[in-house]
Amino acid sequence: MQSWRASLLRFDPDGQALFDEDGLLVVGPNAEGRQVVLAAGAHAALAAQYADVPCTHLPGRILAPGFVDLHIHYPQTDVIGSPAEGLLPWLEHYTFPHEAQFADEAHAASVARFFCDELLRNGVTTSLTFSTSHVPSVNALFAEAQRRHMRLITGKVLQDRHSPDGVRDDTEQSLIDTEALIQQWHGVDRLGYAITPRFAPSCTEAQLRGAGELAAQYPDVWVQSHVAENLDEVAWARALFPDSRSYLAIYADHGLMRPRAVYAHCIHFDDDDRRLMRDTRTAAAVSPTSNLFLGSGFFDFAAADRVGFLPPGRPKAETAPSGGSGPREAGERGGMLYGLASDVGGGTSFSPFVTMRAAYFTGRAATTGFAAKPGISLAPEKLWWLHTAGAARALDLEGVIGNLQPGCEADFVVLNPAATPLLARRTSQADSLAELLFALIVLGDDRVVEQTVISQAQ
Ligand SMILES: [Zn+2]
Repeated sequence: MQSWRASLLRFDPDGQALFDEDGLLVVGPNAEGRQVVLAAGAHAALAAQYADVPCTHLPGRILAPGFVDLHIHYPQTDVIGSPAEGLLPWLEHYTFPHEAQFADEAHAASVARFFCDELLRNGVTTSLTFSTSHVPSVNALFAEAQRRHMRLITGKVLQDRHSPDGVRDDTEQSLIDTEALIQQWHGVDRLGYAITPRFAPSCTEAQLRGAGELAAQYPDVWVQSHVAENLDEVAWARALFPDSRSYLAIYADHGLMRPRAVYAHCIHFDDDDRRLMRDTRTAAAVSPTSNLFLGSGFFDFAAADRVGFLPPGRPKAETAPSGGSGPREAGERGGMLYGLASDVGGGTSFSPFVTMRAAYFTGRAATTGFAAKPGISLAPEKLWWLHTAGAARALDLEGVIGNLQPGCEADFVVLNPAATPLLARRTSQADSLAELLFALIVLGDDRVVEQTVISQAQ
């Protein structure tokens, strides 16, 4: 057993932030020998009970859950910051040529090593990650994450059409490879497999159908893809699948919407799409720096929460007004699941602070970029929840990661709220938890993350 004494941030089951100015975090093995949180709370309340446990005292620091990134592409580590005229030219000119190199396992392994270093340097302890269409890319990342005991989810990208030579795969072989990788890696240590159709326009009907069959056959495996990011992409998807009600519905029509399915972006949606997300317990990975970078549009947080207030089948006219909705409301009422994601390399930073900041900016905007939406101020506690415990809920891993409540795996960060002169000056004047967290969100980056601790197995 070990303990840490510092300020302590965690979340209750309703998503409300709990904060102890002088807190104690006690970590020890569970029945399987994995390091989990045994106790968390005020130092004064817990100190006597754990007096014999070795304690690391970190005055002035904050212990907080490791961040969970709901959508990131490890093969795009070297694509970050590449200029392009929107999504489709960006894919063609930068992304596909870079991804083609991942047929080479040595190249994949070297990028995987850098990628995991960068995640941990930024305080990200779990990510739902795209590999490429090459099996060696998946093996390389799983091996690297396993070596570090990380809870990481990835999968082989499926793209059997509208993709250039070097990344396009073969329909039948892609499904055989996917099933073999599930059997090889899913549930090994802390690793999880995600069935990964790149996006509907890059997949034939047969490939999507095969992916859906695997999703039904392996219900505890994840599903990840993209949807409704960019208007050109939406039009293309609709033209390719004219029988589906909407772009999102293509995935439902192929058995790819269910708990543990996570779709990046979800910008150009109507309320029927949002209800389909809610009713299938499918989650959105909101990727604001990527959306700003590629000019794709902005996620409508208020609309996502609003569908939580509507019983299924009620007409749109009865839509309740939004605003001020916190995680408690969305969770209790079974609203549309969503959390935050970097989407590197369309996204511009590995840092959860940069992502939370961009989520705030895009939330404030009174437009999706193409249609009106309410401009709302997301509360700092909610932004933080959406990148930790809320993201864990979106992954169906609530109570396992993303929080520091008893029983959670001991993945956490040590934050220095005085990491820069301006942060030190601003956070020392914070009068409330909201002010402290907001100052960190607005001014913070990797310099705030002093240490990232990953739960070890014995
Ligand atoms: Zn993406």
